[in-house]
Amino acid sequence: MSEAVEILVVAPLMPFLMDALRGQYTVHDRLHVSDPAAFAAVAPRIRAVVANGEAKVPRELIAQLPALEMISVFGVGYDGVDVPAAHERNIPVTNTPEVLNDDVADLALGLLLSIARRIPQADRFVRDGEWLKGPIPLARKVAGSRLGIVGIGRIGQAIAHRALAFNMEVAYTARSPRAGLPYTYHADAKSLAAAVDFLVVITPGGAATRGMINAEVLQALGPQGYLVNVARGTVVDQPALVEALKAGVIAGAALDVFIDEPNVPPELRAMPNVVLTPHIGSGTRQTREAMAKLTFDNLLAHFAGQPLLTPVDA
Ligand code: NAP
Repeated sequence: MSEAVEILVVAPLMPFLMDALRGQYTVHDRLHVSDPAAFAAVAPRIRAVVANGEAKVPRELIAQLPALEMISVFGVGYDGVDVPAAHERNIPVTNTPEVLNDDVADLALGLLLSIARRIPQADRFVRDGEWLKGPIPLARKVAGSRLGIVGIGRIGQAIAHRALAFNMEVAYTARSPRAGLPYTYHADAKSLAAAVDFLVVITPGGAATRGMINAEVLQALGPQGYLVNVARGTVVDQPALVEALKAGVIAGAALDVFIDEPNVPPELRAMPNVVLTPHIGSGTRQTREAMAKLTFDNLLAHFAGQPLLTPVDA
């Protein structure tokens, strides 16, 4: 019976997720992009959309799918999905929270250690034979330093937990203080930045956080301060960041996410005080498999008439 269900995949997905989907449903893989005429013919029969964290599911696409019943996102961030447009039609949206907390928090600490201790730079120093000419310049101590977390949700708290093992002093900002957390709250990112050595950004993307880490926040972070962004490229004003790095307004940055992935401004790529990774926050086999299972299990639950495992609220 469920073999007859037709679904639209709107992003490149892991082979193990595609295999599971194809075993259960008739899958139209990015047909709306590759063959709009063929898509128009099947659109009335599409009952689910599967996206990833970077994919766009705009109002216009939702409007083209009169039989759409749910949108399942492979990723915790769903800023590419027009959730209000879906909810207006009582179409639930699901994501994959919790299962990736550890990986993203591990990467945040890895990036923080990398930029402070200049680990990638030190690796290049050895490979390039520079060591033979003399010692590498001294780096920044991490243990005992002050960490500011912008967004203290599931992943932010996992980052804080790890930072405590480094004897870091943890403070945070969010739209409101979170009860029960033993960390100092700041009302905004600027005030937090002024009080810390490392600012780690881990809020959702989307309109509400666009450009939140702007020139003023970077100024407040100061010439000894480091920025780590594992949230979304949109949360940081990228041109302002490039300017701040060039002018020494901040000491350095470690970035996993960018405004126009996979394009990274050449200026950033050329800077010595920057560490760059290609959006690998959840990029381990174990976690991606857990995310795939949750993405798939939400679809199974829906088409079995059971409660969704991880619907998003708004
Ligand atoms: P979460 O549990 O929903 O936590 C989000 C946090 O951000 C909360 O503390 C929330 O607090 C705060 N926040 C939300 N809107 C804000 C605003 N406008 N201003 C200030 N703070 C705001 O989400 P999560 O599971 O930790 O995931 C966070 C984000 O990480 C995802 O949405 C995704 O974009 C990103 N992510 C990146 C990767 C990667 O590969 N690099 C992987 C996974 C996730 P309040 O609601 O109180 O403001």
